[in-house]
Amino acid sequence: MLYSLTTFRWLLVFKEQLLKRSYPNILAFFGFLFNAAILQTMKGILFIISGPSGVGKGTVIRLLKAKYPQFVFPISHTTRAMRPGEKDGEVYHFTSPSIFECGIDNGDFLEWAEVHWANYYGTLKKPIIDALNEGKVVIREVDVQGFHSIRKVIPAENLVTIFLKAESPEKLLERIAKRGKLPEEELLRRMESAKREMADAHLFDYQVWSLEGQIPQLVLDVEKIILDHIQKAGLKV
Ligand code: 5GP
Repeated sequence: MLYSLTTFRWLLVFKEQLLKRSYPNILAFFGFLFNAAILQTMKGILFIISGPSGVGKGTVIRLLKAKYPQFVFPISHTTRAMRPGEKDGEVYHFTSPSIFECGIDNGDFLEWAEVHWANYYGTLKKPIIDALNEGKVVIREVDVQGFHSIRKVIPAENLVTIFLKAESPEKLLERIAKRGKLPEEELLRRMESAKREMADAHLFDYQVWSLEGQIPQLVLDVEKIILDHIQKAGLKV
């Protein structure tokens, strides 16, 4: 319905532009129609998982991936250094800033952001849109900037957003410190981002508590949200 109204409004603009012979806007019109046509055919659901550093997003996604191999878990691109134990192509493709910036210029990313004021992170458009067009369930972790970008482009009926939250910033700091030694400056940047992220928690469809030592409960809560939406949408998985 939203698209029909918007398309109708654009038809009027198109007629006006034709009368004025404003060709750049006519090209924009065709671009819009093309995007609208692609988005209208989407049947799948994209689940976005967000929340401050240390809240357990990575663990939840790893456990869901093991239990539901039929879901799509797109690999993001990042310019941050690889950490011990990480492999290229598992969660991230590790890339250089110049290659990442080429991707930005080519319009390859569904969303991208400079996270913790330090490195680029971004999810590619094609694998996500293709999977959604095929009616698949897609699950990806992004920061809150990524959440804001994605909800501007993915229709609400194909998007479910989940914010994981912890008891306190101190608990998050403890958890991040346990994962390995991070430079003081990076810890501070992550805490600054955490404050900014928590201020937007209310904008998400769901907020789920990630309490100390209760990862199994957190996974169950997130899993329930996902399965409920799959059932409501009548998706076959
Ligand atoms: P980390 O470096 O700890 O793996 O991730 C740092 C932050 O980047 C986390 O908040 C994580 O959610 C976010 N992040 C991971 N992948 C993406 C992505 O593709 N896009 C955006 N916008 N943020 C991401």
